[in-house]
This record gives sequence, C-alpha cells and structure tokens, in this order.
Amino acid sequence: MNILVCVKQIPDPATPGELTAEHTLKREAKLILDESDSFGVEMALQLVDKAGGGDVTLISVAPNGEVSGLRTALAMGAAKAVLVSDPSLSGSDSLSTAKVIAKAVERVGDADLLLTATESTDGYTGTIPAQVAELLDWPSLTFAKQVTIADGKVTIQRQTEAGYDVVEASLPAVVSVTAGVVEPRYPSFKGIMAAKNKPVDAVKPADLGLADDQVGWAGARQKITSVEQAPERQAGEKIEDDGTAFEAVVAYLEKLKVV
Ligand SMILES: Cc1cc2nc3c(=O)[nH]c(=O)nc-3n(C[C@H](O)[C@H](O)[C@H](O)COP(=O)(O)OP(=O)(O)OC[C@H]3O[C@@H](n4cnc5c(N)ncnc54)[C@H](O)[C@@H]3O)c2cc1C
Repeated sequence: MNILVCVKQIPDPATPGELTAEHTLKREAKLILDESDSFGVEMALQLVDKAGGGDVTLISVAPNGEVSGLRTALAMGAAKAVLVSDPSLSGSDSLSTAKVIAKAVERVGDADLLLTATESTDGYTGTIPAQVAELLDWPSLTFAKQVTIADGKVTIQRQTEAGYDVVEASLPAVVSVTAGVVEPRYPSFKGIMAAKNKPVDAVKPADLGLADDQVGWAGARQKITSVEQAPERQAGEKIEDDGTAFEAVVAYLEKLKVV
C-alpha cells in the first residue's frame, strides 16, 4: 500500500502574519508543517501499517526550498518526500497549486491513495483536494472522519452536519481528512534523527513539464483586489439564571444541532 500525503508548509500561525502589496501573505521566513496535515500523515502511517507494507510519501509545494515542515512529517515516520519549489511559484492560486501537486503525484507513480487535509490553515480555500482529483481523474472523497481500505476500495465516514455518510470509491483516490480523524503522534528523538537523512526529491515546475506561465503570478486566474479586517467579535448574550437558564442553554445547543 503506497500512500501519498499532501503537506503544506506554512508561516508559524503563532506569529502575526504580514501582507505583501498584492494582498498575499508574506512567506519569507521559516515554514512549518500545517497542523491540519499532521492528521493525513498519521492516517497514512496507520493505513500502511495495517496493510502490512508499503510507503508513505509526502508532497509539498513551497516558494522557498523550505523543508522544516517536511522534516517534521518525515520524523513522524513518512519514508520520503517530493518538494516542488521555485521562485516562479510565488503567487500561485489554488488551481495552479493543484496542477503542480497532480504532476508531482504522477512523478511518484504507483500510489494507491492521496491524502490531504480538508483545508489549509493559512489559505483555507478548501478547493485543492477536489481539483487534484479532477486533474488526475481519480475519485474525490471529502471530509473523511474515518478511512478504511479493503478489497481495492477506500471507504470513508464523511462528516455531515447531522452525523456522517458512508462513501466508497475504487483506488486510487483522493481523500481529504478532517482534524480528529486520528491522533497525530509526536515525532520521537530517533524519528527526528532519522528524518535528517530521508530522501527529499527537490524539483522545479519545469521538471514536471509545467511552463513558467502555468504557475505563480503568471498562471494565476484569481487576484486579490482588497483586504479588510474581519469584524470584531460581538459580546455574547448574557443570561441571568432565574432557575430556568438551562432552558435557554438547551435551546441554544439545539439551534447549533449539538444536542
Ligand atoms: C509555492 C507557492 C507559493 C505561494 N505563495 C504565496 C504567498 O507568498 N502568499 C500567499 O498569500 N499565497 C501564496 N500562495 C498561495 C496560497 O498558498 C494559496 O492559498 C494556495 O495555493 C491555495 O490553496 P489553499 O491553501 O487555500 O488550499 P486548500 O484547498 O485549503 O488546501 C487543502 C489541502 O491541500 C493540501 N495543500 C494545499 N496547498 C498545498 C501545498 N502548497 N503543498 C502541499 N499540499 C498543499 C493540504 O493538504 C491542504 O490542507 C502560494 C502558493 C504556492 C503553491
């Protein structure tokens, strides 16, 4: 069982982000593993273990040759990685990012499954998984909160507002997983040391057959025209307990479909 996992390397969300003149996020410093993708990495490791053999390969598209986030995922136990990086990728929109990822998947070849997160933490368009599936002509299964593989098929529990749907598809397929699908492991010291020597296949878009005008600012079909502060959060409703406050709490939870 060979599983590919998309790993986005992002600026540390703990530090305030800065915007460029083009209203995009500055991505000049160290990039770390997007926490959302640690769930896909863990899921892949568990599926390969269950299958009794195979490899987990990471795919990352990054502007600046950064490997810090990839090394974290390699330390968790992935075997190797493909890093597509080049200054020409700067400004890529989600479709051109998906094109690069699809080409990287083809470069690796021989994969049974591609796992992604549902949405990234810094871009969160949530469009990449379905775009990559379409480009590869693979089935797309989204919002998986549980993934099982048997008899050449992948079956997921697809998170819905009310619970979940069971969805299955033939392999190979693209599956986006939700946070909470599994509990990601912490890399061990041994894993961290081993990750330093694991292979990272560093390629440029041209190595994947993509022309410069298909990626980056040149290839982008979307442009951010303005950016504004998100509205400040309003104060919540205060309920003084006169002995019936529980009714208001239950009504509120019902409205949220929590109970
Ligand atoms: C090389 C590069 C440089 C960029 N530079 C900037 C910049 O400087 N400033 C800026 O604001 N925007 C930049 N962008 C665009 C920004 O990252 C977009 O937000 C992104 O392309 C759209 O995807 P998303 O994060 O919304 O994806 P979503 O659809 O929300 O992502 C879903 C999942 O797809 C996978 N995925 C998404 N992106 C990647 C990736 N790059 N590598 C591997 N897996 C991925 C992950 O599993 C992710 O959780 C850049 C994009 C690329 C590829």
